[in-house]
Amino acid sequence: MTSEYSDTTETRQAIIEACLSMQAAGVNQGVSGNISLRTTEGMLITPSGLDYDKMQADMLVLMPLDGTPIRPGQMKPSSEWQFHRDILLAKPGEMAVVHAHPVYCTALAMNRQPIPACHYMVAAFGGNDIPVADYALFGSQALSDQVLHALKHRSGCLMANHGAVVTGDTLARALWRMVELETLAKGYVTSLSIGTPKVLNAGQMTEVKKAFADYGLKTT
Ligand code: 13P
Ligand code: ZN
Repeated sequence: MTSEYSDTTETRQAIIEACLSMQAAGVNQGVSGNISLRTTEGMLITPSGLDYDKMQADMLVLMPLDGTPIRPGQMKPSSEWQFHRDILLAKPGEMAVVHAHPVYCTALAMNRQPIPACHYMVAAFGGNDIPVADYALFGSQALSDQVLHALKHRSGCLMANHGAVVTGDTLARALWRMVELETLAKGYVTSLSIGTPKVLNAGQMTEVKKAFADYGLKTT
């Protein structure tokens, strides 16, 4: 079942904690990256250019998803609000969008090198590879268009010469996915440095996706 969030101090605090946990997990640092969450009131997004350590609940920005103007008196929203908005609008089942500049994801993105099915966990992103969105200027509508295209059948992608973006049906799942994506990228880059990674074939990946359906804690 999909979680519903509303714009409360608790929800805002959860976003700040998610930002800090990205920092603790080593997938982000300083003012890079941003997080948004769909709430019943609209999209809550991190402000632009602010250190995660200094972020307070009232600094998060509430942006309507229906095109109406934002409430005045708020901080400036993340420069990437366009792709956050466009992803949430295009994927009604997804609640959270997480963007970061993790080192290994970014190294691959600098080479514009997608991650092939070199590990079964690639299937957790919806397909047989992690694609790279074509390059466009940060904070531009063109970047949003490229990211949306790369995420069409995926819940994560790399962004050429920039970083990575993932989605989740909960904030926790989006966060987990970003850490997982960086782990995959690190494994792939390392495997390239010691030899030639063997890639799983389409049949093996279909088998993984079927096995995922029955994986994890379940009540019987
Ligand atoms: P903001 O601080 O505006 O969110 O920008 C950080 C970033 O990663 C831009 O791509
Ligand atoms: Zn960025």
